[in-house]
Amino acid sequence: MDLLTALVDKGLRRELPSREEALAVLATSDDDLLDVVAAAGRVRRQWFGRRVKLNYLVNLKSGLCPEDCSYCSQRLGSQAGILKYTWLKPGEAAAAASAGVAGGAKRVCLVASGRGPTDRDVDRVSETIAAIKDQNEGVEVCACLGLLSGGQADRLRAAGADAYNHNLNTSEGTYGSITTTHTYADRVDTVQQAQAAGLSACSGLIAGMGESDEDLVDVVFGLRELDPDSVPVNFLIPFEGTPLAKEWNLTPQRCLRILAMVRFVCPDVEVRLAGGREVHLRTMQPLALHLVNSIFLGDYLTSEGQAGQADLDMIADAGFEVEGADTVTLPAHRGSGMCGTGEGACGGEDACHDEADAGTVPAVDAGAVPAARTDLVAVRRRGAGTDLPPNA
Ligand code: SF4
Repeated sequence: MDLLTALVDKGLRRELPSREEALAVLATSDDDLLDVVAAAGRVRRQWFGRRVKLNYLVNLKSGLCPEDCSYCSQRLGSQAGILKYTWLKPGEAAAAASAGVAGGAKRVCLVASGRGPTDRDVDRVSETIAAIKDQNEGVEVCACLGLLSGGQADRLRAAGADAYNHNLNTSEGTYGSITTTHTYADRVDTVQQAQAAGLSACSGLIAGMGESDEDLVDVVFGLRELDPDSVPVNFLIPFEGTPLAKEWNLTPQRCLRILAMVRFVCPDVEVRLAGGREVHLRTMQPLALHLVNSIFLGDYLTSEGQAGQADLDMIADAGFEVEGADTVTLPAHRGSGMCGTGEGACGGEDACHDEADAGTVPAVDAGAVPAARTDLVAVRRRGAGTDLPPNA
């Protein structure tokens, strides 16, 4: 396809595709899907080889959020039966983080629900960062604490944080229909505060919330303009008990097209496959490794992922390799976003959910309305905030 030839050429030159080209990727047919994956895979290998960076989420504070993000199981009024707990102690968080590092993660993502941290919260997280770094030499730490206010990014950087995550999630035009308690501009401001403080910025999106192709292209172009070091791509897990519980809009093929589009628009950025991969890509997850260069190991904030060992087996079976702690993630021309990576996750990437009509698994017909795979969604009941060991 001329389209794919042009996109590969641009990706290898780090040149921005046009909006029309990005939209055309989303509009490709199932017959062309493997060609799309192969083309975006060439761009991925140019900048990241066959390496897969592993990241590990630690939910420091779960649920009870005053914000109303529609996709989030931790939102105001959520009826999702998730774990709810207040701040983990530094030692508890460090124990969970160490399990992830032992499983192969080179980055730990510390996430807390809420609009944004108080200065006391920044103190708590600073103590937690110190505890994690004491126990895990060389580990990267990303904080994801919501909207930042004056000086907090600098304090986190001084405390040893390497990165800060705050997702844009959806386009500016649709943001108000997803969340009313803060704005797209608020989110952009926090990402820019993190960058100004010397933190590696991580900011991504959630697909599957009923948005149009134009919305998806808008948010990815918005991210490219912000220029984060990493871009997590989440696929909505429509949690029962949240306003988006019925939004089962994604097929594995659609997910692959979205990931390919993100790779073409952000060719040399860490593109991370985040929440929802097990639920929406299902047996097609290994193909996504040709598009992304980073995934989360194990569980998400409020939902369970596949076993950590299954993640490692998938990477090996697909012919990829886990990125070592001594390898710099980003290509040299991007400089050291800090110690050589990008990204994190939170503020939305973990659309979790409950289960409803378990048992029946309708067949998915490409082109048909996607089935609601509530049977694949499990609320997290292990790891941080529980007495059970973490999945890593
Ligand atoms: S995404 Fe973050 S800010 Fe929004 S409701 Fe969930 S925890 Fe609160």
